[in-house]
Amino acid sequence: MDRIAALQKKLKAWGVDGFLASDPVNRNYLSRFTGSDGLLLVLPKSGQLVTDSRYWTQASRELKGASLVRQRRGLWLEAASLVKRAKVVRLGVEARHLTLALAKALGRELPGVELVPLEGSVEALRSIKDSQEKAAMRQACAITDQAFSHALTILKPGVSERRVAAELEHCMRLAGAEGPSFDTIVASGPRGALPHGRASDRRIKAGELVVMDFGCKVGPYCSDFTRTVSVGRASAQQRKAHALVAKAQAAACAAIRPGLACGKVDAVARGIIAKAGMGGYFGHGLGHGVGLEVHEEPRLTPGNPALLRAGQAVTVEPGVYLPGRFGVRIEDLVLVTARGCENLYQSERGLIEIPC
Ligand code: ZN
Ligand code: ZN
Repeated sequence: MDRIAALQKKLKAWGVDGFLASDPVNRNYLSRFTGSDGLLLVLPKSGQLVTDSRYWTQASRELKGASLVRQRRGLWLEAASLVKRAKVVRLGVEARHLTLALAKALGRELPGVELVPLEGSVEALRSIKDSQEKAAMRQACAITDQAFSHALTILKPGVSERRVAAELEHCMRLAGAEGPSFDTIVASGPRGALPHGRASDRRIKAGELVVMDFGCKVGPYCSDFTRTVSVGRASAQQRKAHALVAKAQAAACAAIRPGLACGKVDAVARGIIAKAGMGGYFGHGLGHGVGLEVHEEPRLTPGNPALLRAGQAVTVEPGVYLPGRFGVRIEDLVLVTARGCENLYQSERGLIEIPC
């Protein structure tokens, strides 16, 4: 179904007779316009995208389910005049995006119009991927797998984290990605205990674990992937930690199905790690949705009662982080299917020890 039409069906339930999409990702998702500036007004029977002359040609080609309104004065002023003309009484706005200053300005322009703050409304629609979106994500994941295979050929003692990150990103771009989906994480040795240790100039040493967390964008959908490998032989403690995370990760993936609460999936992995006495070393949530943004709905966090739905794409990424020593994380991206899930990666999940 047309995305704007899907949103129009929700207006009544939200108690509004108009919706202003100002979050750029939500606006682009709904209208298919890929430019970086504009506002989308959705009314019960129409949609209007306001943008400036830089995007008129592009928008007229891309728009689906909305007409183009050529902005000749300020973007917000133009949108406000459309709201007035449509005689909207209750306007849904995106509370997570609209700043207080813009809300005040909009209020001044629209006396008598009630601004209704809505949260996560478009995000909920975005969480269910259609076949085109799934295809783009499958491709992004295949490219990510390819980059990981390449990294295994260059990892050795003396190579810097930054070099590994550069090779990963270069490889993904050459394979057709538009770019990385976030700052590439390459964290070796004790830096691996920083869950978000961006690549530094540190040189990798023999006997260290290296956490690589990276992804790419394909038209413009994201992948997100983590593997932890050992450069040289791993110690018994490193091997044990890796096996524990792999076990928790596999169990959580096996549990995923529509109708299961997000918090329950988190509990599967967290329970296994806690039972091994390592619960205190796993501080973050198990996973998150991925799509146009690398972090989106739904969140696989402790106690989240939201139920998984077929068509959602979520990461499963338990980890253990031993401060001053090392860290281990394994992350896959899976699509929730009618009965379970489909893992979008082929890469090895067991511990890889790179000979050196
Ligand atoms: Zn990641
Ligand atoms: Zn992630």
